[in-house]
Amino acid sequence: MSETVKYTDFIRNIIDKDLAEGKNEGRVHTRFPPEPNGYLHVGHAKSICLNFGIAEDYQAQNALCNLRFDDTNPEKESEEFAKAIQEDVKWLGFEWHGEVCNASDYFEDLYGFARQLIEKGLAYVDESPAEEIAKNRGNFQTPGTESPYRNRPATESLDLFERMRAGEFADGQMVLRGKIDMSHPNMLMRDPVLYRIKRMHHIKTGDKWCIYPMYDFTHCISDALEAITHSLCTLEFEVNRPLYDWVLDNLDIPARPYQYEFSRLNLAYTITSKRKLTQLVEEKLVDGWDDPRMPTISGMRRRGYTPASIRNFCKAVGISKVNSVTDMTLLEDNVRQDLDSTVERRMAVLDPIKVIITNYPEDKEEMLAGKNHPKNDEMGTRTLPFSRELYIDRADYRESANKKYKRLVKDGEVRLRNAYVIRANDVSLDESGEIKELYCTYDPDTLGKNPEGRKVRGVIHWVSAKHAKPASIRMYDRLFKVDNPGAMDNFLDALNENSYSELTAMVEASLAETEPETRFQFEREGYFTADRYDYSKDKLVFNRTVTLRNSWVD
Ligand code: ATP
Ligand code: MG
Repeated sequence: MSETVKYTDFIRNIIDKDLAEGKNEGRVHTRFPPEPNGYLHVGHAKSICLNFGIAEDYQAQNALCNLRFDDTNPEKESEEFAKAIQEDVKWLGFEWHGEVCNASDYFEDLYGFARQLIEKGLAYVDESPAEEIAKNRGNFQTPGTESPYRNRPATESLDLFERMRAGEFADGQMVLRGKIDMSHPNMLMRDPVLYRIKRMHHIKTGDKWCIYPMYDFTHCISDALEAITHSLCTLEFEVNRPLYDWVLDNLDIPARPYQYEFSRLNLAYTITSKRKLTQLVEEKLVDGWDDPRMPTISGMRRRGYTPASIRNFCKAVGISKVNSVTDMTLLEDNVRQDLDSTVERRMAVLDPIKVIITNYPEDKEEMLAGKNHPKNDEMGTRTLPFSRELYIDRADYRESANKKYKRLVKDGEVRLRNAYVIRANDVSLDESGEIKELYCTYDPDTLGKNPEGRKVRGVIHWVSAKHAKPASIRMYDRLFKVDNPGAMDNFLDALNENSYSELTAMVEASLAETEPETRFQFEREGYFTADRYDYSKDKLVFNRTVTLRNSWVD
């Protein structure tokens, strides 16, 4: 997309219209509201790019975006998750407005707003057992039945609610419910539970509270207290919208945000369910949340994806109200596209066989130069030592082959990238009949120029044996064998048992002089990244980020 064309979608159109009509005093304020109960995944990236992206696009209106932890469900939440989420948002390149917000910051306010509803006769304490409440809710065909506690005086509910908070009752003994409509066609409007008693230690408020507000009550009020203008969430919350509106319309509260829904990101061959991702981690089927095969932001980071590639991908997916499944190729193509122009080239021989240049003096060494990027001279050059013994890839030599094979064949010639043309003359085999060494001669007259009187079409990569360093290369493939693992009875049956393998390559010595998380193109092999944790100058570890071309066969 050219820079002069403004990126837009139906949500930005709504914002433009609101601005044109002078709504919200011309303010634009969004929020990203994760629950700190897992690491963020590629689906969250879409929501992050939307919410924070809007704040960036509406700079002229001083638009803002908050990061708010929706921490009302203490059982599964943790500080580790909260920290990881902040790191991921920053890594993607976004900044939230002010301090991190927490729904739990508003527990006192929420309690006050609940009292307000009770006083207005719009909420009541229900002592019915949970099963009774569930049963009396009715179903799509049958209206619900009103609770016997529904019409108790407000003073009685206020008293009980206060004593719920004071810890006088057992967990689940009673709840606070909104008094809406037991025959409402939307089941969520049939006197929804607003507060429950639950003795649980909370990551922020400790043991201060034994009653916790429910999502539908908390979210809209948190939005209002932060003066959010556009509260963006995924389509499954469409049914919650009437309740969102009901709560805010019935409270004396200074701001009035509105909720808009967009479709979730679903990515083929992976899962974006936090529950299932948690299961993979807890059952140790992957190497933690940031395993490079995971669709988590930290996993993609460790694999070598760039923030820009993920942001470009989210832009390419777009924002709509239609649920669909996005092909993994779109994500990978964005990664390739970004890396192609930004990373330096190196040579790494993944499956090395030794080459001996028999007409090259034993003690001679030459320092050749290789461009770091074929199309960008500003990226400079690096030194490539050349000597009598080299490594090339096993796949780049054949005893015999047809014309389509443009690499090294016995009695044939090939160019070594950035170096000479060599001819294969002979081989020696090991006990198992595999090639041990390849005996070649080089043409000293072919450095940087074509040989006289003959054409050499193939170019292969190589490293000098005595200069090269061994490196562990971690090869990753997709984690699942089927395109929609989430739809299986047991998604674990779809795990690809060959999604990980490790090999030892021989790589240019310059690869021992880099930093963790530096990305490269290993020529003819793909894009690779120095592992964030395990790479050091003494122990080279690279993760395959993505292949050079789409090699998936579906
Ligand atoms: P949970 O079931 O734990 O609530 P969740 O996927 O809704 O899981 P949240 O942490 O609540 O996770 O999500 C934070 C925000 O990210 C929400 O606004 C949610 O709508 C959005 N989000 C989550 N998954 C996706 C997805 N696949 N595509 C787009 N947005 C998503
Ligand atoms: Mg959620």
